[in-house]
Amino acid sequence: MSVQHKRRFAEVLFLFIFLILLEAQPLWAETLPLPREGEPWLYAQDLSFQPDDELNLRCLGQSYPEIQGLERRSDGLWLVLVGGLRVLYAGERVGRDYYDVDVRTSMAQPYVCEPERPETPAGYAPGRRRSYDLLHALYGHNAASVARSLQHVRALGQNWTFAPKAAEAFRRAAMVLEGKVAVHPELRPWLKSSGTFSWRRIAGQTVLSAHSFGIAFDIGVGRGATYWRWSALTRHPLQQTFSPDIVLAFEDEGFIWGGKWHEFDLMHFEYRPELICKAKRRHSQQTPRPASVPQARW
Ligand SMILES: [Zn+2]
Repeated sequence: MSVQHKRRFAEVLFLFIFLILLEAQPLWAETLPLPREGEPWLYAQDLSFQPDDELNLRCLGQSYPEIQGLERRSDGLWLVLVGGLRVLYAGERVGRDYYDVDVRTSMAQPYVCEPERPETPAGYAPGRRRSYDLLHALYGHNAASVARSLQHVRALGQNWTFAPKAAEAFRRAAMVLEGKVAVHPELRPWLKSSGTFSWRRIAGQTVLSAHSFGIAFDIGVGRGATYWRWSALTRHPLQQTFSPDIVLAFEDEGFIWGGKWHEFDLMHFEYRPELICKAKRRHSQQTPRPASVPQARW
């Protein structure tokens, strides 16, 4: 082999090794910060993104300051949390329960706030499919770790127990409702608690209840608020008549209501501020957009 051939062979070999090394790297593993309120959207719109992703990520950033950024790897888009923990935002998850999904899927069905009470056809249950990876990352990985951060709230004449962010939100809603009850005392029996924190699986399912994370509470059982497994699964009268004052006060502070699900859970409220943020921004169509075409960073 001539010197020239040897040099050519070495060049091709080098190029081959370089390409293999390039392929082995995670795709765009740089972590980019989530856009905060008023900041422009700087991510390039490409095939990784779907139309709702900008709104989803803005609402996730607004709702959970623990989520610091987004990272794209070969197996999907990942939320990066304080401490470096990663939660799958969008990507394939094999062997998981139907109700245990990536974050994008957990936000896919539009929740609709008061005064709307949309129809609830089979399959419509916004918020009922959850990212358990995100719930564990935010609130704790087992009963003991969730319980360590729980706060006790005295409100509406009763004791309640919540994770810190849900506790703050519940206190604010309860203050509004105290004012309502003063004018409409008939509301008070509807606000009687039937439970807050409880580490348990959902009846008939393998996934954990939202009560396991200190983000849910049940009210109004004595007034007829019921659960689809206890009743015929036809539209329940309370899905239209449950007090709008109560539902509105909790929605305004980031709680979704199980009365808006096909598999209705009329007593159940759950702190899911990302879904309420998305519902309100969709409704007002005031999603902030940059005035000029942003420069792509990915
Ligand atoms: Zn419940």
